[in-house]
Amino acid sequence: MNIIKTENLTFEYIRRDEEGNVEGIVKAVDEVTLSVKAGEFIAILGHNGSGKSTFAKHINAILYPTEGSIFVDGKDTADDEHLWDIRQIAGMVFQNPDNQIIGQVVEEDVGFGPENMGIPTKEIWERVEESLRAVGMYEHRKKSPNRLSGGQKQRVSIAGVLAMHPKCIVLDEPTAMLDPSGRKEVIRAIRALNDVEKITIILITHYMEEIIHADRVFVMEQGKIAMSGTPREIFSRVDELKALRLDVPQVTLLAHELKKNGIPGIPPAVLTVDELAAIIAMSS
Ligand code: ADP
Ligand code: MG
Repeated sequence: MNIIKTENLTFEYIRRDEEGNVEGIVKAVDEVTLSVKAGEFIAILGHNGSGKSTFAKHINAILYPTEGSIFVDGKDTADDEHLWDIRQIAGMVFQNPDNQIIGQVVEEDVGFGPENMGIPTKEIWERVEESLRAVGMYEHRKKSPNRLSGGQKQRVSIAGVLAMHPKCIVLDEPTAMLDPSGRKEVIRAIRALNDVEKITIILITHYMEEIIHADRVFVMEQGKIAMSGTPREIFSRVDELKALRLDVPQVTLLAHELKKNGIPGIPPAVLTVDELAAIIAMSS
């Protein structure tokens, strides 16, 4: 079952001057056709301006295609009658946790989504508890969000989406404003939602080390899908990644150079330091 399916999805921003005259058109997403199966963990890469956020905003009907179409859980997002269903099926988490948390207390914040959905009070509290536990923030439930670290705030934002029982969560650079330990916490929480709760994950990031757990990776460039494949397939194409101005992990680059220089036993892609160490230990 496809949770997301796009057909020639195209989106154009129309830029206007102060008088409202059309100054130009930016084709931010350009004829993207892809599908995502329920339960997949998808990573989307691409340098700034490649169209990732514009694409993501189509998944929960913040934007609608200029041309082509997108179906979320079989529903055409252009069809207004599905709007609230789609927003509940596909939750969004953005870069800045401070813009997403509105409650004065963590547990209250997480309850806003289900409350707006008209869920009965008793069930709201059950959902708040289960969601906070799923992201490892239950012990902080009585705190003011102001007193949390960036990684903790972002996990509260994720819990807020989770409490609406989505089938899919789209995270648009959720770790961009976090320190390394905050980034790890958030990625761990996201992986658990995929592994344990079987929630489809669409993770947009420019940190390469965050994509190695994805089932599939899409690389965007000028609104198009320039590359797609498993992380290992993508990381075996080092020269193309560099041409797309993406940072390849140091260990992958090192392995690539060793292989190029004829060192035997190096596979086409190495993703982690441990992997490279094991390969070298085996062959020496
Ligand atoms: P990414 O998330 O990969 O950085 P975006 O989807 O934000 O890319 O942007 C894709 C293209 O659309 C860029 O050229 C960007 O300048 C343009 N763009 C994004 N948002 C707007 C907007 N609100 N109005 C006009 N152009 C926009
Ligand atoms: Mg973006």
